[in-house]
Amino acid sequence: MPGKKEQDKELQELQEKLSAIKRRILVLSGKGGVGKSTVSTNIAVGLSLRDNMVGLLDVDLHGPNIPNMLGLKGTQPPVTPEGAYPVVYSPTLKVMSIGFFAKDNDAIIWRGPLKHRAIQQFLSDIIWGALDYLIVDSPPGTGDEVLSIRHLLGKVDGAIIVATPQDVALADVKRSIKFCEATQTPILGIIENMSGFVCPKCGEVINIFKSGGAETLAKELNIRFLGRIPIDPKLVEAGDEGKPCVEYYPESEPAKAFFKIIEQIEEILK
Ligand code: ADP
Repeated sequence: MPGKKEQDKELQELQEKLSAIKRRILVLSGKGGVGKSTVSTNIAVGLSLRDNMVGLLDVDLHGPNIPNMLGLKGTQPPVTPEGAYPVVYSPTLKVMSIGFFAKDNDAIIWRGPLKHRAIQQFLSDIIWGALDYLIVDSPPGTGDEVLSIRHLLGKVDGAIIVATPQDVALADVKRSIKFCEATQTPILGIIENMSGFVCPKCGEVINIFKSGGAETLAKELNIRFLGRIPIDPKLVEAGDEGKPCVEYYPESEPAKAFFKIIEQIEEILK
Protein backbone atom coordinates (compact mmCIF):
# COMPACT_ATOMS: atom_id res chain seq x y z
CA MET A 1 0.00 0.00 0.00
CA PRO A 2 1.32 3.49 -0.80
CA GLY A 3 2.13 5.90 2.02
CA LYS A 4 -0.08 8.82 3.05
CA LYS A 5 1.79 11.37 0.93
CA GLU A 6 1.54 9.23 -2.17
CA GLN A 7 -2.14 8.59 -1.52
CA ASP A 8 -2.79 12.35 -1.22
CA LYS A 9 -0.96 12.93 -4.49
CA GLU A 10 -3.02 10.23 -6.22
CA LEU A 11 -6.21 11.74 -4.87
CA GLN A 12 -5.17 15.14 -6.17
CA GLU A 13 -4.42 13.67 -9.60
CA LEU A 14 -7.85 12.04 -9.64
CA GLN A 15 -9.48 15.39 -8.82
CA GLU A 16 -7.60 17.01 -11.69
CA LYS A 17 -8.90 14.33 -14.04
CA LEU A 18 -12.46 14.98 -12.87
CA SER A 19 -12.11 18.76 -13.00
CA ALA A 20 -13.67 19.18 -16.47
CA ILE A 21 -16.93 17.70 -15.17
CA LYS A 22 -19.35 20.48 -14.30
CA ARG A 23 -21.81 18.55 -12.14
CA ARG A 24 -21.42 15.26 -10.28
CA ILE A 25 -24.52 13.39 -9.16
CA LEU A 26 -24.42 10.33 -6.93
CA VAL A 27 -27.37 7.93 -7.12
CA LEU A 28 -27.91 6.07 -3.84
CA SER A 29 -30.29 3.49 -2.42
CA GLY A 30 -30.57 1.76 0.92
CA LYS A 31 -30.61 -1.67 -0.66
CA GLY A 32 -30.41 -3.49 -3.99
CA GLY A 33 -33.33 -4.11 -6.31
CA VAL A 34 -35.15 -0.81 -5.81
CA GLY A 35 -34.34 0.47 -9.30
CA LYS A 36 -31.20 2.52 -8.69
CA SER A 37 -29.57 1.44 -11.98
CA THR A 38 -32.82 1.97 -13.89
CA VAL A 39 -33.06 5.49 -12.47
CA SER A 40 -29.36 6.27 -13.12
CA THR A 41 -29.64 5.04 -16.72
CA ASN A 42 -32.83 6.90 -17.57
CA ILE A 43 -31.68 10.13 -15.95
CA ALA A 44 -28.36 9.96 -17.82
CA VAL A 45 -29.98 9.13 -21.17
CA GLY A 46 -32.72 11.73 -20.61
CA LEU A 47 -30.19 14.46 -19.81
CA SER A 48 -28.17 13.49 -22.89
CA LEU A 49 -31.28 13.73 -25.09
CA ARG A 50 -31.68 17.32 -23.88
CA ASP A 51 -28.33 18.32 -25.35
CA ASN A 52 -26.23 17.92 -22.24
CA MET A 53 -22.87 16.15 -22.50
CA VAL A 54 -23.26 13.30 -20.01
CA GLY A 55 -21.11 10.57 -18.47
CA LEU A 56 -22.69 7.55 -16.80
CA LEU A 57 -20.43 5.74 -14.37
CA ASP A 58 -21.49 2.34 -13.05
CA VAL A 59 -19.57 1.43 -9.92
CA ASP A 60 -22.18 -0.94 -8.54
CA LEU A 61 -19.60 -3.59 -7.65
CA HIS A 62 -22.14 -6.31 -6.99
CA GLY A 63 -24.45 -5.84 -9.94
CA PRO A 64 -22.89 -3.66 -12.63
CA ASN A 65 -25.81 -4.06 -15.05
CA ILE A 66 -25.78 -0.74 -16.86
CA PRO A 67 -24.08 -2.29 -19.93
CA ASN A 68 -27.14 -4.59 -20.23
CA MET A 69 -29.59 -1.74 -19.74
CA LEU A 70 -28.02 0.17 -22.63
CA GLY A 71 -27.48 -2.81 -24.93
CA LEU A 72 -23.71 -2.48 -24.51
CA LYS A 73 -23.00 -5.91 -23.03
CA GLY A 74 -19.74 -7.35 -24.33
CA THR A 75 -18.46 -3.95 -25.46
CA GLN A 76 -14.83 -3.25 -24.63
CA PRO A 77 -13.85 0.30 -23.71
CA PRO A 78 -10.74 1.41 -25.60
CA VAL A 79 -7.77 1.14 -23.22
CA THR A 80 -4.63 3.15 -24.04
CA PRO A 81 -1.43 3.84 -22.08
CA GLU A 82 -3.05 7.12 -20.94
CA GLY A 83 -6.12 5.38 -19.55
CA ALA A 84 -9.49 3.93 -20.51
CA TYR A 85 -11.96 5.80 -22.70
CA PRO A 86 -15.65 5.41 -21.89
CA VAL A 87 -17.87 3.64 -24.39
CA VAL A 88 -19.69 6.07 -26.66
CA TYR A 89 -23.43 5.32 -26.45
CA SER A 90 -24.40 8.44 -28.42
CA PRO A 91 -22.71 11.73 -29.34
CA THR A 92 -23.82 13.12 -25.95
CA LEU A 93 -23.52 10.07 -23.67
CA LYS A 94 -20.37 8.25 -22.58
CA VAL A 95 -20.58 5.16 -20.40
CA MET A 96 -18.10 3.41 -18.15
CA SER A 97 -18.93 0.35 -16.08
CA ILE A 98 -17.04 -2.07 -13.92
CA GLY A 99 -19.16 -4.62 -15.81
CA PHE A 100 -17.18 -3.98 -19.02
CA PHE A 101 -14.18 -5.56 -17.32
CA ALA A 102 -15.92 -8.59 -15.80
CA LYS A 103 -16.22 -11.82 -17.70
CA ASP A 104 -19.75 -13.08 -18.31
CA ASN A 105 -21.53 -13.74 -15.01
CA ASP A 106 -18.25 -13.57 -13.13
CA ALA A 107 -18.68 -12.40 -9.59
CA ILE A 108 -16.18 -9.63 -9.12
CA ILE A 109 -14.18 -10.40 -6.03
CA TRP A 110 -13.41 -7.35 -3.95
CA ARG A 111 -11.76 -7.62 -0.61
CA GLY A 112 -11.13 -5.25 2.30
CA PRO A 113 -8.36 -2.69 1.82
CA LEU A 114 -7.81 -3.72 -1.78
CA LYS A 115 -11.32 -2.65 -2.57
CA HIS A 116 -10.70 1.05 -1.94
CA ARG A 117 -7.51 0.89 -4.01
CA ALA A 118 -9.28 -0.93 -6.82
CA ILE A 119 -12.11 1.62 -6.93
CA GLN A 120 -9.55 4.43 -6.89
CA GLN A 121 -7.57 2.80 -9.70
CA PHE A 122 -10.73 2.30 -11.74
CA LEU A 123 -11.85 5.94 -11.30
CA SER A 124 -8.36 7.29 -11.98
CA ASP A 125 -8.00 5.42 -15.25
CA ILE A 126 -11.11 6.82 -16.92
CA ILE A 127 -10.66 9.65 -19.41
CA TRP A 128 -13.97 11.53 -19.41
CA GLY A 129 -13.04 14.81 -20.98
CA ALA A 130 -15.48 17.71 -20.53
CA LEU A 131 -18.96 16.82 -19.26
CA ASP A 132 -22.01 18.78 -18.16
CA TYR A 133 -23.10 15.94 -15.89
CA LEU A 134 -21.58 12.78 -14.45
CA ILE A 135 -24.19 10.36 -13.08
CA VAL A 136 -22.70 7.81 -10.70
CA ASP A 137 -24.58 4.58 -10.04
CA SER A 138 -23.15 3.51 -6.69
CA PRO A 139 -23.37 0.15 -4.89
CA PRO A 140 -26.48 -0.24 -2.72
CA GLY A 141 -26.36 0.60 0.98
CA THR A 142 -24.21 3.01 2.89
CA GLY A 143 -21.19 0.85 3.59
CA ASP A 144 -17.47 1.14 2.89
CA GLU A 145 -17.81 0.91 -0.87
CA VAL A 146 -20.14 3.89 -1.19
CA LEU A 147 -18.00 5.78 1.30
CA SER A 148 -14.89 5.13 -0.81
CA ILE A 149 -16.65 6.32 -3.96
CA ARG A 150 -18.03 9.42 -2.24
CA HIS A 151 -14.56 10.25 -0.91
CA LEU A 152 -12.82 9.67 -4.24
CA LEU A 153 -15.27 11.81 -6.21
CA GLY A 154 -14.27 14.86 -4.16
CA LYS A 155 -16.93 17.44 -4.95
CA VAL A 156 -20.43 16.00 -5.37
CA ASP A 157 -23.16 18.45 -6.41
CA GLY A 158 -26.01 16.32 -5.25
CA ALA A 159 -27.25 12.87 -4.28
CA ILE A 160 -30.45 11.29 -5.54
CA ILE A 161 -31.92 8.74 -3.14
CA VAL A 162 -34.02 6.00 -4.75
CA ALA A 163 -36.58 4.21 -2.59
CA THR A 164 -39.64 2.02 -2.95
CA PRO A 165 -42.89 2.97 -1.20
CA GLN A 166 -43.03 0.30 1.54
CA ASP A 167 -42.41 1.37 5.13
CA VAL A 168 -39.38 -0.90 5.48
CA ALA A 169 -37.73 0.97 2.64
CA LEU A 170 -38.11 4.21 4.54
CA ALA A 171 -35.65 3.11 7.22
CA ASP A 172 -33.16 2.68 4.37
CA VAL A 173 -33.93 6.18 3.13
CA LYS A 174 -33.12 7.56 6.58
CA ARG A 175 -29.77 5.76 6.50
CA SER A 176 -28.99 7.22 3.07
CA ILE A 177 -29.89 10.70 4.33
CA LYS A 178 -27.60 10.24 7.36
CA PHE A 179 -24.85 9.11 4.99
CA CYS A 180 -25.24 12.32 2.96
CA GLU A 181 -25.15 14.46 6.09
CA ALA A 182 -22.08 12.69 7.43
CA THR A 183 -20.24 13.09 4.12
CA GLN A 184 -21.36 16.69 3.44
CA THR A 185 -23.21 15.61 0.31
CA PRO A 186 -26.07 17.92 -0.67
CA ILE A 187 -29.27 15.95 -1.33
CA LEU A 188 -30.98 16.73 -4.62
CA GLY A 189 -34.02 14.76 -3.56
CA ILE A 190 -35.81 11.45 -3.16
CA ILE A 191 -37.40 9.40 -5.95
CA GLU A 192 -40.10 6.88 -5.12
CA ASN A 193 -39.76 4.06 -7.64
CA MET A 194 -42.23 1.22 -8.21
CA SER A 195 -44.91 3.55 -6.94
CA GLY A 196 -48.22 2.30 -8.32
CA PHE A 197 -48.66 0.00 -11.31
CA VAL A 198 -49.33 0.99 -14.91
CA CYS A 199 -52.15 -1.25 -16.14
CA PRO A 200 -50.97 -2.75 -19.45
CA LYS A 201 -54.58 -2.77 -20.70
CA CYS A 202 -55.79 0.75 -19.93
CA GLY A 203 -52.54 2.58 -19.05
CA GLU A 204 -54.01 3.87 -15.79
CA VAL A 205 -51.74 3.98 -12.71
CA ILE A 206 -53.14 1.78 -9.92
CA ASN A 207 -51.74 1.90 -6.39
CA ILE A 208 -51.37 -1.79 -5.60
CA PHE A 209 -49.10 -1.17 -2.62
CA LYS A 210 -49.24 1.74 -0.28
CA SER A 211 -47.57 4.61 -2.06
CA GLY A 212 -46.51 8.08 -1.06
CA GLY A 213 -44.41 7.01 1.96
CA ALA A 214 -41.22 8.50 0.57
CA GLU A 215 -42.99 11.76 -0.23
CA THR A 216 -44.34 12.05 3.32
CA LEU A 217 -40.91 11.30 4.73
CA ALA A 218 -39.30 13.86 2.42
CA LYS A 219 -41.77 16.51 3.66
CA GLU A 220 -41.14 15.57 7.29
CA LEU A 221 -37.39 15.87 6.86
CA ASN A 222 -37.58 18.93 4.63
CA ILE A 223 -35.97 17.18 1.68
CA ARG A 224 -37.08 17.72 -1.91
CA PHE A 225 -39.34 15.00 -3.34
CA LEU A 226 -38.36 14.62 -7.00
CA GLY A 227 -41.18 12.36 -8.11
CA ARG A 228 -42.71 8.90 -8.44
CA ILE A 229 -41.98 6.28 -11.08
CA PRO A 230 -44.75 3.70 -11.44
CA ILE A 231 -44.15 -0.01 -11.99
CA ASP A 232 -44.43 -0.58 -15.71
CA PRO A 233 -43.85 -4.03 -17.24
CA LYS A 234 -42.50 -2.16 -20.25
CA LEU A 235 -39.68 -0.85 -18.10
CA VAL A 236 -38.52 -4.40 -17.30
CA GLU A 237 -38.61 -5.29 -21.00
CA ALA A 238 -36.87 -2.05 -21.87
CA GLY A 239 -34.14 -2.82 -19.31
CA ASP A 240 -33.71 -6.39 -20.53
CA GLU A 241 -33.56 -5.35 -24.16
CA GLY A 242 -31.13 -2.52 -23.53
CA LYS A 243 -33.66 0.11 -24.57
CA PRO A 244 -33.97 2.88 -21.97
CA CYS A 245 -37.59 3.99 -21.72
CA VAL A 246 -36.88 7.73 -21.99
CA GLU A 247 -35.41 7.08 -25.44
CA TYR A 248 -37.55 4.22 -26.78
CA TYR A 249 -40.88 4.79 -25.00
CA PRO A 250 -40.94 8.55 -24.32
CA GLU A 251 -44.75 8.53 -24.07
CA SER A 252 -44.81 5.88 -21.31
CA GLU A 253 -45.74 6.92 -17.75
CA PRO A 254 -42.24 6.16 -16.34
CA ALA A 255 -40.56 8.17 -19.14
CA LYS A 256 -42.86 11.15 -18.51
CA ALA A 257 -42.05 10.93 -14.79
CA PHE A 258 -38.31 10.74 -15.57
CA PHE A 259 -38.44 13.84 -17.77
CA LYS A 260 -40.18 15.82 -15.00
CA ILE A 261 -37.40 14.75 -12.63
CA ILE A 262 -34.71 15.64 -15.18
CA GLU A 263 -36.15 19.13 -15.66
CA GLN A 264 -35.98 19.66 -11.90
CA ILE A 265 -32.37 18.49 -11.78
CA GLU A 266 -31.42 20.89 -14.58
CA GLU A 267 -33.20 23.72 -12.78
CA ILE A 268 -31.60 23.00 -9.38
CA LEU A 269 -28.07 22.62 -10.77
CA LYS A 270 -28.15 25.26 -13.51
P1 ADP B 1 -31.00 -1.76 -8.43
O1 ADP B 1 -30.01 -1.02 -9.27
O2 ADP B 1 -31.55 -0.91 -7.32
O3 ADP B 1 -30.53 -3.09 -7.95
P2 ADP B 1 -32.44 -2.20 -10.93
O4 ADP B 1 -32.50 -0.86 -11.54
O5 ADP B 1 -31.43 -3.17 -11.44
O6 ADP B 1 -32.29 -2.07 -9.33
O7 ADP B 1 -33.90 -2.80 -11.01
C1 ADP B 1 -34.20 -4.12 -10.57
C2 ADP B 1 -35.22 -4.72 -11.51
O8 ADP B 1 -36.46 -4.02 -11.38
C3 ADP B 1 -34.84 -4.63 -12.98
O9 ADP B 1 -35.28 -5.81 -13.63
C4 ADP B 1 -35.63 -3.44 -13.50
O10 ADP B 1 -35.95 -3.55 -14.87
C5 ADP B 1 -36.88 -3.52 -12.64
N1 ADP B 1 -37.48 -2.18 -12.40
C6 ADP B 1 -36.91 -1.11 -11.84
N2 ADP B 1 -37.80 -0.08 -11.76
C7 ADP B 1 -38.96 -0.53 -12.31
C8 ADP B 1 -40.27 0.04 -12.54
N3 ADP B 1 -40.55 1.29 -12.18
N4 ADP B 1 -41.17 -0.73 -13.16
C9 ADP B 1 -40.91 -2.01 -13.51
N5 ADP B 1 -39.72 -2.60 -13.31
C10 ADP B 1 -38.77 -1.89 -12.72
